[in-house]
Amino acid sequence: MQNQSLKTILVLISAGIALLISFCVMSFSNGTTSINLRVAGMVFLISFISSLLLLYFAHLIVFKKIDHLVATVKNFRSESERPQSLAETTNNELTKLNNEVLAWADDRKNEIERLKKLEVYRKEFLGNVSHELKTPIFNIQGYVLTLLDGGLEDETINRDYLARAEKSIDRMITIIDDLEAISQLETGELQIEPERFDIVALAKDVCEAQEMKATARGIILTLPDDSRQMFVYADRFRIRQVLVNLVVNSVKYGKEYGETRIRFYDAGEKISIEVADNGLGIAKEHLPRLFERFYRVDKSRSREMGGTGLGLAIVKHIIEGHNQTINVMSTEGVGTVFSFTLKKV
Ligand code: ADP
Repeated sequence: MQNQSLKTILVLISAGIALLISFCVMSFSNGTTSINLRVAGMVFLISFISSLLLLYFAHLIVFKKIDHLVATVKNFRSESERPQSLAETTNNELTKLNNEVLAWADDRKNEIERLKKLEVYRKEFLGNVSHELKTPIFNIQGYVLTLLDGGLEDETINRDYLARAEKSIDRMITIIDDLEAISQLETGELQIEPERFDIVALAKDVCEAQEMKATARGIILTLPDDSRQMFVYADRFRIRQVLVNLVVNSVKYGKEYGETRIRFYDAGEKISIEVADNGLGIAKEHLPRLFERFYRVDKSRSREMGGTGLGLAIVKHIIEGHNQTINVMSTEGVGTVFSFTLKKV
């Protein structure tokens, strides 16, 4: 309802009231018809103006209150939610109030759903963390108890058990480091510090560092033959971590005596980097969830290979922190290709 039609309604109601009053005055009057008509005319005019003024002021008071209500509801809604409001699209206060309340209720519903999801995520995350930490802690406890129960004097096991306990401590440190990295990335605490560097040289560096692990499984790490320089603008330290995680995964889940190939493609304003292996591959149904924290395709293999289930989640956070994208393509039994982009300079 627009302001114009509201005014017409006020005039019509006032006219109706004035007519009713004039009719009553005429019916109760005993004078001549001409006097009655003059008096009725006056009565009509006075009652019309009075009703109109009364209704107009009542309308002003009521709508001022409604305006106040609209403003209060608006204040409940956060700045980011406000642009979605339909309220501003109408001049009528009642419709405005109705729209504002509906939009507010909608926001609250979305907020409750978001909080419920966060609560589920929090519980899942805590469950996963304690589950991950339990195994190395119980292992350490087992070795220490055995050593205390006389194992310390037994030359055949004492050093071996201490070395095993040390391995479990290493595992805990890896888990905690990954947890710390992911929480820093998720809270935005960790700033991306970009610089210009040669991505090919960095990949070469990573391959050299991982060569021992790869050779232990008979896997060859290869880079393009014509290793020419390719400059990108990114956080060198973080991108190193991305390459390490992808190369280490290709070795962990690659087939023995297989190959991991790193390739670079010039894609206009970006450089696309590919890490491809000819290993186990990943079934199609796992691909959409692969970058989630603690998501593993083969849990026992991942743990056996020292995986925390956080590597790909960290990788995704880092790449998205650079406003770039990462993709995965995989065929079971054939191999997996991870590709991500970086800004070219
Ligand atoms: P993890 O520490 O378990 O390796 P990631 O987050 O790095 O955790 O990887 C998640 C899961 O994705 C792994 O457990 C593994 O099942 C699967 N995966 C990752 N990379 C590969 C790959 N190159 N080939 C096959 N499976 C892979």
